[in-house]
Amino acid sequence: MLHLQSGEGAVRPHVAELVINWHITEACNYKCRYCYAKWNGAGRELLHDWSRVRNLLDELQAFFHPENAANPLRQHLSWSGIRLNLAGGEPLLYQDASLRVLDYVRSRGMAASIITNGSRFTGDLIDQLAPLVSMLGLSLDSADVARNREIGRVDSRGLLLDVDSTSEKLVRARRRNPALRLKLNTVVNALNHQEDMSPIIQALAPQRWKVLRMLPVVTSELAVSAEAFRAFVARHHALRELMCVEGNDSMSESYLMIDPLGRFFQNASSQRGYRYSGPVDVVGAERAFSEWPFSVDVYASRYRDALVVGR
Ligand code: SF4
Repeated sequence: MLHLQSGEGAVRPHVAELVINWHITEACNYKCRYCYAKWNGAGRELLHDWSRVRNLLDELQAFFHPENAANPLRQHLSWSGIRLNLAGGEPLLYQDASLRVLDYVRSRGMAASIITNGSRFTGDLIDQLAPLVSMLGLSLDSADVARNREIGRVDSRGLLLDVDSTSEKLVRARRRNPALRLKLNTVVNALNHQEDMSPIIQALAPQRWKVLRMLPVVTSELAVSAEAFRAFVARHHALRELMCVEGNDSMSESYLMIDPLGRFFQNASSQRGYRYSGPVDVVGAERAFSEWPFSVDVYASRYRDALVVGR
């Protein structure tokens, strides 16, 4: 729930949760041609060093604490809590590390969520994962086997996401955690923009369906025109209550994102690729945040816009 709150003379949007996306690894068993999960920089991914991971999470928890007046975001936005969302690559390639992170996040008073391609779901993993997260995100670009292959949503053995067994796993997850919210993410691209995904979305029954336009940050492979994107959204008008639509403008410089090396990163508007802060666990979250080209205004405006369209 989002509402407006006055503070120091200005009206600030208020949100229940500030979401921080930590892309814990670049590794993935799929090879989507448009994949954004390509970060520069030398060094070992942080997830292999638990003491660094803990430092990173402690820094984030202190800096983004709703009552930390030193956080510059507070001039534009207020929030009641923090949610750390694990993303990748595919975070569940490292199941033990991911579960440990999610558990620690909760022990520090933050909410936790994960976005996965679902390929590693087993009953046992679902039983461990579901109670730890308030939201389970599943990326899903098509209901069509051949199209998923063409996009690259297939592993080295030729295996694709099996929708029927995934649906069963989601039922199991909801049984383990009745408060769990399911979110589906679809990247609209040159291969799926003509598809009607209504049947599969209705079958999986998410609380939210995030529809993103393929954003040419790392590559322009499978980029799609604004018109084709609008047509995809219009075709799914009947699902508008679930849909959260993001075109390219609202996605640039408007996410709190951390890369596998523990750095804030952001799309560079003028060039291909990302720009980075120093590692948060080494330089501290406050300094890393100040040296990073994050647009506080654009970020807060996403929430103002969301308020206008009633989300
Ligand atoms: S599933 Fe996600 S991380 Fe993996 S290749 Fe596709 S877009 Fe990249």
